[in-house]
Amino acid sequence: MARRRARPLRSVTSFARVRQAVRAFKARGLSVAFVPTMGALHAGHLSLIVRAAGSADRVVVSIFVNPLQFGPGEDFRKYPRDFARDRALLARVPADLLFLPRPDEFYPEGFDTRVSVGRIAEPLEGRARPGHFEGVATVVARLLLGVEPDILWLGQKDAQQVAVLGRMIEDLGFPMTLRVGPTVRERDGLALSSRNARLTPAERREAPFLHRALRAGAAELRKSARGVPAARRAMRAVLRKARLGRVDYAEVVDPRTFRPPGAAARTVLLLTAVRFPSARLIDNLPVRLPAAGPGRGRRRA
Ligand code: AMP
Repeated sequence: MARRRARPLRSVTSFARVRQAVRAFKARGLSVAFVPTMGALHAGHLSLIVRAAGSADRVVVSIFVNPLQFGPGEDFRKYPRDFARDRALLARVPADLLFLPRPDEFYPEGFDTRVSVGRIAEPLEGRARPGHFEGVATVVARLLLGVEPDILWLGQKDAQQVAVLGRMIEDLGFPMTLRVGPTVRERDGLALSSRNARLTPAERREAPFLHRALRAGAAELRKSARGVPAARRAMRAVLRKARLGRVDYAEVVDPRTFRPPGAAARTVLLLTAVRFPSARLIDNLPVRLPAAGPGRGRRRA
């Protein structure tokens, strides 16, 4: 049921309160959608919240910068935090409940459990950021058990996160549906990200190369005659023009396995990650293949 006007937003900081509020919604027969975030909100987050409001009667948003998903050399301390701005933005969208977990309740003294993620979390982001997906799965499992939503909304922007959490929800039997919102972009194609604010003007000029590279790869795949290796080459050729960024990866995978797509793949995912001095950026593009499929264009005698 779509609702256009924003409603008064209530904030809670404890698991007991969020559970109580969600159970009260459900006791009235209302369905609940949940959008977990790390704050520093932008139009990508807001579009997920609007979609969530279209999918359920009530929307819960969480803001929690989760230390577990940042590696030792990563940007946990520098991650942008602007709570006053976040609150103002949330007043414009149909969110009903803001959950701001307290770190001491989230990870009390003695907290010692991790959700172990499988093969889907190994390549790409998993390789570049050891321990990242285990941290993500642990925090999201804890949030889902606390919030008990009917629907979880995640962004396509973090495609491997969607795959890892989709697996977790299915494998562990979390009683909810996963929905995925498309990536919201700047006019020049740059995917919105809280980390974009940290880019220098020169880095910002090069940042759209990620999306440009994905589109170049997609164009090769659509030709089908040249296949996956040509798509990879096309992506890398565009990314080489980014002088300030170092390419972590530019790959084509099967979105269900995150492994190289097999001959039967109908949809593939192009992904790239580029490390600029001020921020590391990721982006991806799902592509539906033409009937011939990838890598099957080699001429046969
Ligand atoms: P984060 O605050 O970065 O953890 O993101 C919270 C949620 O917003 C995740 O499900 C992200 O995938 C999603 N998200 C982040 N950036 C975008 C974007 N540009 N478009 C759509 N969803 C996004």
